[in-house]
Amino acid sequence: MKKHFDPATAIQKLEQFGEFGGVNPSITDSATFTFMTEEEMTKTFHGVGEGCFLYSRHWNPTNRYLAEALAAMEGSELAWVTGSGMAAITTTLLQLCNTGDHIVTSVTTYGGTYAFLANYLKKFKIDVTFVNITDLASVRNAIRPNTKVIYTESMTNPMLQISDIPGLAKIARKHGIKLVVDNTFTPMIFSPIQMGADIVVYSMTKFINGKNDAVAGAICASEEFIEAISNVNDGTAMLLGPVLDPLRSSSILKNMATLHIRMQKHSENAMYMAKKLKEIGLKHIYPGLPEHPQHELMNKLMNKDFGYGGIIAIDLETAERAAPFMELMQKKGVGYHAVSLGYFKTLFSNSGKSTSSEVPEDLQKEMGLSAGLVRFSVGLDHDIAHSYQLVEDSLRELKYI
Ligand code: PLP
Repeated sequence: MKKHFDPATAIQKLEQFGEFGGVNPSITDSATFTFMTEEEMTKTFHGVGEGCFLYSRHWNPTNRYLAEALAAMEGSELAWVTGSGMAAITTTLLQLCNTGDHIVTSVTTYGGTYAFLANYLKKFKIDVTFVNITDLASVRNAIRPNTKVIYTESMTNPMLQISDIPGLAKIARKHGIKLVVDNTFTPMIFSPIQMGADIVVYSMTKFINGKNDAVAGAICASEEFIEAISNVNDGTAMLLGPVLDPLRSSSILKNMATLHIRMQKHSENAMYMAKKLKEIGLKHIYPGLPEHPQHELMNKLMNKDFGYGGIIAIDLETAERAAPFMELMQKKGVGYHAVSLGYFKTLFSNSGKSTSSEVPEDLQKEMGLSAGLVRFSVGLDHDIAHSYQLVEDSLRELKYI
């Protein structure tokens, strides 16, 4: 693993100017682009010649600026920006796999990803084996001659397991397959490409944008892979068309400049809440606390400046107990009873009933996902002690503690 990788400084160092010297790059609000000569246009469509934009489903200058910032943050050669996190995931997997191929993946992933892997890929006769991603032996054992991808989330949704990315990368390299990592929960905290991952995907809807005003995604990878997905003849991104709108790219780019500060604050507030919830004896999951099974692994792999992330989970055992608790917290002003994460307000939901509802109940049980698991995306609250007190008051009012 490369030492001292600093994703925040990599973004800070970028100098991207507007056409009149603006400190922010100009927005190219155009779907298509003119060419001075027919020869130039023909060449561009055949992938010859650099620097020409042909059509915004392929590339747009504003999308390019955001892609550069993402590539700087990950230390990848290039990136491509998509209209959602799911678009980033599906584009990547459909590019890497053909009919008859096989994927090994974590059984705990975002519910939409689970549904795509378990249900949708059947259309293409792509087989998927779900494993406990923290058990490298089970990953190794699941590899077949037709395996093309190991897929995981660096911090899994919603169980908050930590993937051993260098360990998985070693397995992937040995078998000549690709390691794809969804780093949505932990931008800046983990730098998967620096640890040997081939491709990093993001839902930028979450922490990266941080404003809950957009759905967006990203694929960070080698130049070769980004060129392959945007190839006019057979590129999955070019042909399925999941591109992000350049107006939105422009707003997300500006939010990336504050991502490191937001991640630090989300982490600080989550750590405060996790410690307090532990003190009152509530069953909790937070990788920042020593009792988390992958706490030491996280210490080893993380970039130290950004904390352990903004997501915590508590286990209230049943959905019937979780429901009034979340409603009461919302009434008291802890935050919003809503899915998603990475917002400046605290968001909470019962994972098994919402963002993991696509996972069948027996599998939820098998992976240890309690029916009463409430996942919190802890916000940027200035007075976190007060916010926490409202959580504790809600628990006491319901006589849960
Ligand atoms: N990956 C993770 C880890 C997620 O939590 C989500 C959404 O919740 C996604 C991907 C999908 O992202 P989007 O909603 O932007 O399509």
